[in-house]
Amino acid sequence: MSDSKSGILSAYFRANLAKRILIGLILGSIFGIVMAYLGNKTLIPYLQPFGDLFVRLLKMIIVPIIVASLIMGTSSISPSKLGRVGGKAVLFYFLTTLAAIVIGLICAFIFKPGSGLDLSDASVAVTKAAEQTQISQILLNIVPTNPIESMAKTDILPIICFCIFFGIGLAFVRDSEDERIKAAGEVVYKFFDGVSEIMFLVVKWVMQYAPIGVFALMFVVFNKSGAGAITSLLNVTFTLYLGLFLQVVLVYCGICLLIGLKPLEFLKKVRPPMLMAFVTRSSNATLPISMETADEDMGVPKGIYSFVLPVGATVNMNGTTVYLGVCALFIANACGVDLSVGNYVTIVLTSILAAIGTAGIPGAGAIMLLLILQSIGLPVEGNVAIAYGMILGIDALLDMGRTSMNVTGDVIASVWVAKTEGELDESKWS
Ligand code: ASP
Repeated sequence: MSDSKSGILSAYFRANLAKRILIGLILGSIFGIVMAYLGNKTLIPYLQPFGDLFVRLLKMIIVPIIVASLIMGTSSISPSKLGRVGGKAVLFYFLTTLAAIVIGLICAFIFKPGSGLDLSDASVAVTKAAEQTQISQILLNIVPTNPIESMAKTDILPIICFCIFFGIGLAFVRDSEDERIKAAGEVVYKFFDGVSEIMFLVVKWVMQYAPIGVFALMFVVFNKSGAGAITSLLNVTFTLYLGLFLQVVLVYCGICLLIGLKPLEFLKKVRPPMLMAFVTRSSNATLPISMETADEDMGVPKGIYSFVLPVGATVNMNGTTVYLGVCALFIANACGVDLSVGNYVTIVLTSILAAIGTAGIPGAGAIMLLLILQSIGLPVEGNVAIAYGMILGIDALLDMGRTSMNVTGDVIASVWVAKTEGELDESKWS
């Protein structure tokens, strides 16, 4: 008996996590639809706590993960290596990320994913969202008056702002000529490196519970709303992939044309890293292929791609940004929350900054989505958590597309920097 129990447990832990979460989503949905069909809602109070536990675990990790990963992300750009090439790359990352979030929001605005779902008792959130309308106030609120207070209150934008200052300061201190200061910087860097590794581990543990949490959340949503929710999931997937497609056609192909390269040739050359990213769902794991492609197929010199690509894999996440915009709107629509102009501005700002803190590993973007929701006054609880659970259930599918776009954004950045520096080996281009 105990053997078969431990057999089930070890089979559970050995199975692929993304598949387990998807199975949780499918089983929870089917079970919920069947119970809705039978008109039986008696199981909701029993299963709800399992979903709530997952939500509490997610909330627990938000602040520490963002602090650690943003400080590591920003301090990874060494000031002495930054120079002209680095400055150009960072500007390029910023502009393409801005384009990505705008494209994501426009697509979501047009296709309104989530609007068919009726999860609209998030009235607390509506009041909070409505409060933040003045744009000047939103911009001012980015700067915390007391970073510790912002962390205690989970005020995302001020936390991000402080961590970026801190990370840049740390990069300078680690680069100092003074041995004492440099050594002190190294200690702090190692400390946050440790914190970020620990947090990744904790996230992994929390995610082991995700299949059960998603099962419970899905059961509740489908038991309440019937089979209609499936259409919403298809819609959000379609909207995201359309946004990613537009990012390729409008932004990347546009950049190729601007610098006199053939867009179709770029797309052909970039296929191997795109495919690798699609299957591994990790920018970091794709880095060797991106480097090889930039070097051998695109003629980018080593001096440029060896800086632009690793930094890009850490801080430049165009696909993730499209995803953040689309999914934030999906959740707002699902909960019947009307976002104000101020909320949109907040989504743009938070997404651009959150991309820096997104690690190039599978599923990292889904954690960043929690920040975006929090920043627009939609903390993960109640129906927001249910809608978030739906997104998490299909995260693997969404992650494949966004990671592909993340690495494409890095590769085009290296090509653009090389071309504008006059260092692109054009013999590789027909
Ligand atoms: N998986 C993505 C990447 O590695 C990050 C994300 O989850 O959005 O680039």
